[in-house]
Amino acid sequence: MSQSSTPPIEGIGFTVPPELRDVLDRVRAFVAEDALPAEAEIPDLNEITGSWDVIDRLRDKARERGIYAPHLPEEWGGLGIGVLGMSLISQECGVTPIASLGLNAMAPDEGNMHTLLMAGTEAQQERWLRPLAEGRIRSCFAMTEPDVASSDPTNLATTAVRDGDEWVLNGRKWFITGAIGAEIAIVVAKTGSAERASHRDYSLILVPTDTPGWEVVRDPGLIGAHMVGGHPEIRLTDVRVPVENLLGAEGEGFVIAQKRLAGGRLAHAMRWIGVSQRALDLTAERLEEREAFGVPLSKHQSMQWFLADSAIDLYASRMMVLNAAWRVEHGLEHRQEVAMVKTFVSEAFGRILDRCVQVFGSHGMATDLPIGQWYADARAARIYDGASEVHRMTIARTLLRYTRNGESTAAGCGQIS
Ligand SMILES: Cc1cc2nc3c(=O)[nH]c(=O)nc-3n(C[C@H](O)[C@H](O)[C@H](O)COP(=O)(O)OP(=O)(O)OC[C@H]3O[C@@H](n4cnc5c(N)ncnc54)[C@H](O)[C@@H]3O)c2cc1C
Repeated sequence: MSQSSTPPIEGIGFTVPPELRDVLDRVRAFVAEDALPAEAEIPDLNEITGSWDVIDRLRDKARERGIYAPHLPEEWGGLGIGVLGMSLISQECGVTPIASLGLNAMAPDEGNMHTLLMAGTEAQQERWLRPLAEGRIRSCFAMTEPDVASSDPTNLATTAVRDGDEWVLNGRKWFITGAIGAEIAIVVAKTGSAERASHRDYSLILVPTDTPGWEVVRDPGLIGAHMVGGHPEIRLTDVRVPVENLLGAEGEGFVIAQKRLAGGRLAHAMRWIGVSQRALDLTAERLEEREAFGVPLSKHQSMQWFLADSAIDLYASRMMVLNAAWRVEHGLEHRQEVAMVKTFVSEAFGRILDRCVQVFGSHGMATDLPIGQWYADARAARIYDGASEVHRMTIARTLLRYTRNGESTAAGCGQIS
């Protein structure tokens, strides 16, 4: 808990570390010259699977530019870039949903690759990480369930029971991003027998989606956040997989899942910043172009305030993500910071897009134009990867722990010591 291990910081400020500058330049060029023009080749960005050839071509371009799968170690075909570098890359990629896909660094595959790297055996890595890293297959992460409040993971009811040399899984999952067309699922299942489950009663199990008993039941239409492979509901009925499909140690499911989450949450936050920045740029242009009551909209003070408030939100968001990423990269305590980042940036994303809709007027409400689409995307950000209320609960708990120990809460509020 104590943050006294923080090394002294010389100077306050952020510059891009020299070793990342060249990579970032190449990512920017990839986004501007390859990804943004390719958007026009995809008739419906909500149906990217139908235009997968475009993504494959983008991946070839990313390889040519030497920026493919930047999050993976070099021996897996990547660049070995850490959380801070990935946060900066995600910000650049956020301007279009196909840029991160083009780098093969998009959720849920990115997080699943990290999980396999962290917890997979050599055989599991060869079988599943290899084709994921090469972009030959897709994956999904199946935790949330329709029947229980999944914010509290000890509610999860899907079971995996040992039967000889197999695990037998039964249960229901939903909102499983990318599950349609995914070849492998990492399923969170209860392996402990305690009736009142604790965090240590859950494990991760690798389930190939062609295993009998794995069934996509339906794909609910969603407000925004459309992704490759939908967010379907899955039924698992006597799904049998070999015992070797346990990923990591039995009972370690949430320990492993927690480790994958920090980088994923920061990358999401940076992508939201990228989208917000693009929306704000379009909004500023709109204010200059359109006139009302004899002057450009940009001359009306209330319109200017929309811009200013969004700039303030973006500035705070960027600084928070970079500081949290820096803490992760330096092996410092970071759960409090990541929870605050997830909450603040997802909500700032919503506020910024809401202002953009107002500036654009009825244009902003059209779901086939970017502002309306991003507005809808922003709503989901407050729910996935931990809902805002749950993050606030853990943030407050940490603060109260300091108080109960007779300490100031400053260390839990981003204090730099
Ligand atoms: C676009 C999208 C993609 C997703 N992708 C995936 C995926 O790939 N894999 C996966 O497993 N899941 C995925 N999810 C599901 C997501 O992780 C869950 O929706 C989320 O964890 C919340 O769980 P729940 O829906 O069961 O809500 P519940 O747990 O039922 O919560 C309902 C409400 O109660 C609030 N609440 C809960 N506890 C508290 C508390 N202590 N104090 C105050 N309020 C509280 C919550 O904040 C929420 O507002 C996705 C969801 C979305 C929207």
